[in-house]
Amino acid sequence: MTTTIAESLTQARTRLNQALAKAGRAPDAALLLAVSKTKPADMIRDAYALGQRDFGENYLQEALDKQAQLGDCPGIHWHFIGPLQSNKTRDVASHFDWVHGVDRAKIAQRLSDQRPDGLPALNICLQVNVSGEATKSGVSLEELPELASLAAALPHVRLRGLMAIPAPSEDPEAQREPFRLLAEALSSLRRELPDAPLDTLSMGMSADLEAAVAEGATIVRLGTAIFGSRQ
Ligand SMILES: *Cc1c(COP(=O)(O)O)cnc(C)c1O
Repeated sequence: MTTTIAESLTQARTRLNQALAKAGRAPDAALLLAVSKTKPADMIRDAYALGQRDFGENYLQEALDKQAQLGDCPGIHWHFIGPLQSNKTRDVASHFDWVHGVDRAKIAQRLSDQRPDGLPALNICLQVNVSGEATKSGVSLEELPELASLAAALPHVRLRGLMAIPAPSEDPEAQREPFRLLAEALSSLRRELPDAPLDTLSMGMSADLEAAVAEGATIVRLGTAIFGSRQ
C-alpha cells in the first residue's frame, strides 16, 4: 500500500473533522466522498483498505472499468458526479448508488425509468447553478422548484438534495456565499416538498471544503486532497 494515500486520506478526514467542529456540527454530520476520477483502481483499493467506502467518478467508461476491477471489494457506494448525457443514463442507473449532477427533467425521468428492478431507488441530487453566469451547468434557482417537484414524484429515484460547483474563489468569505444560497434553496424545498427525503447538501471540494462545511455541507467531494493532482 502506498503510504501516500494513507497519509492524505487521514489528513482529509482530520480536515473534515476540524471543519465540522469549528462549525459546531457533529463529527458524523458530513460524508467524505473520495473523488477518484482519472486515478487507477489500485488507489481506490488502498483507500478502501483504510475504510473508505464512498467514491465519486465523472467518466462512465472509466468508472465501469474500475468497478469491474474492484469486484472483490464489497460495500462500495459509487457516486456519479460528472455531467450526464441522456445516452449514458441507462448504465449510470444500473451501476451507481448516487447521481449528483441531475439538472434537467429528462435525465431524472430516464434515471427513474431505467433503474433496474431489484435495486433500491437511485439517490439523486439536483445540480444548481448558484454562481449565475460563471458556470454553465445546473438548473437555475428560479427553475429549481419545478424540477424538484417532478423529480420527487418519480418512483425509482430518491430526491436527496442539492449539489453545486461554484465558481472558484480564493477568499474564504466569498466562497461561503454560493453555499449559503444552496443551503437556503434546500430549506425552501423542504417546506415545499415535506414528504421528500431531502437531507443532502453535496458541496465543497479540495479548495473550499471549510466554507461548504460552515454552510451545512453533508457530502464533501474531495479529489486532489486525497489522490493528488490530476493530469
Ligand atoms: C473533480 C471533482 C471534484 C473533486 O475536485 P478536487 O478539487 O480535486 O477536490 C468534486 N466534485 C466534482 C463534481 C468534480 O468533478
